[in-house]
Amino acid sequence: MYVTLYGAAEEVTGSCYFLQTATAKLLIDCGMFQGSKRLELQNRIPASLGAKTLNGVLLTHGHLDHCGRLPQLIKAGYTGPIFVTEGTAAIAKLILTDAAKIEEEDTERENRKRRREKLPLIKPLFRLSETRQVCQQFHLVEYYQWFNVAPGIDAQFIEAGHILGSASIMLKVTEDNQIKNLVFSGDLGRWDAPIMLDPSPPVEADVVFLESTYGDRIHPPLAQTLTEFETLIKKGIAQKGKILIPTFAVGRTQQILYQLASMIRRKVIAPLPIYLDSPMAIAATELYAKHVAFMDNEAKELQITGQLHSDLATLKTCLTVEESKALNNIDGPAIILAGAGMCNAGRILHHFLRQLNSPETLVIIVGYQAKGSIGRDLIAGVSQVKILGETVRVRATVAGLDGFSAHADQKDLLRWLHPCTAGRPRVVLTHGESHSIDQLAYQIDETYKIKCEKPKQGAKLQF
Ligand SMILES: [Zn+2]
Repeated sequence: MYVTLYGAAEEVTGSCYFLQTATAKLLIDCGMFQGSKRLELQNRIPASLGAKTLNGVLLTHGHLDHCGRLPQLIKAGYTGPIFVTEGTAAIAKLILTDAAKIEEEDTERENRKRRREKLPLIKPLFRLSETRQVCQQFHLVEYYQWFNVAPGIDAQFIEAGHILGSASIMLKVTEDNQIKNLVFSGDLGRWDAPIMLDPSPPVEADVVFLESTYGDRIHPPLAQTLTEFETLIKKGIAQKGKILIPTFAVGRTQQILYQLASMIRRKVIAPLPIYLDSPMAIAATELYAKHVAFMDNEAKELQITGQLHSDLATLKTCLTVEESKALNNIDGPAIILAGAGMCNAGRILHHFLRQLNSPETLVIIVGYQAKGSIGRDLIAGVSQVKILGETVRVRATVAGLDGFSAHADQKDLLRWLHPCTAGRPRVVLTHGESHSIDQLAYQIDETYKIKCEKPKQGAKLQF
């Protein structure tokens, strides 16, 4: 059998593995390349993949870099099942719908310009109608249950602990009377993180495709990050200004709300107005509440008993633009959570525009900020930034916390791999930049005496 890498090789986006046996063809993930024009140009389905001839697609989770090319796969003629957990079906639907809306709006804006300049018009990468078709092809599967995917291939989804619905995928492939166990880690979460269950490592594997996003890093302990977060929130309240927290809609928002609820419950802070100013984060938070069966025991109990709801009695959601604009006129102290997580778009920019110039404002950056993003500049301590075409002086306090990551670090990755190392599997490192992959490969060799493989984009591996 062969596995070809159609993405996430020596980089962190575009996850897509193409598995071919004598009797079947499968895709594991079908993600979008993100982050730069060069990468985004690769967002198509290679003809060599033969979309019409695939037996099945399996999704590890609903982040766009794992499911964002599905609409194009459908356009290329794929009509079969897309196997997902219940949580992934919900998250992927939310994320793909949002991405399609943005794609259609961006294309329309570009085409207005092109019409004026008499240039040829462009088409969106995908449309809302195509994302609807993707969701119709979702086929729900339970965690920890083997099921048949294609002739000679059985699959099982196991907990990955990354976001709602996330799974690692185990495949049992029978070929020439031989059975081989393949494991695709997907994105892995951390042990003992709030809300999420711990990742569930595979015990048996002949081949492991292991993500390496933070293969070169050790996260600060979560307890330390939470203490820093509490100190900052108390400081923001004392300043009586607005506390602005740019957040990613899925995962990070729920984690931050969970911590704020805990602080109010423990009387670390008195209840204060908290605004969730992001339609997508509001929808994601509702999904997390609805799928509480897939959360850890504490999160489950807080949700079911209504405790979380009563802790967050001062939480208000802002769905409309008018509700968002009304926040300009409220007095502090107040906490505002708004997207986009990387401060490159969304309502957070409008809050920045009005509040960064005020010394009472506190900005807490809780997520990864790419090079060149406004968030990255703010953490670096710039004295002014350009927002929506206007130059704004930064007089607010800005703090960055990098311990909230939903990704396993080097220690977690080694721990996850451990149970299956006795069987001496082939370990293939993917979903990481070269430096992370090299560092993780070194540690795996040191710890388990296994030499990892580091394939390039398009590599076809034989097993
Ligand atoms: Zn992910």
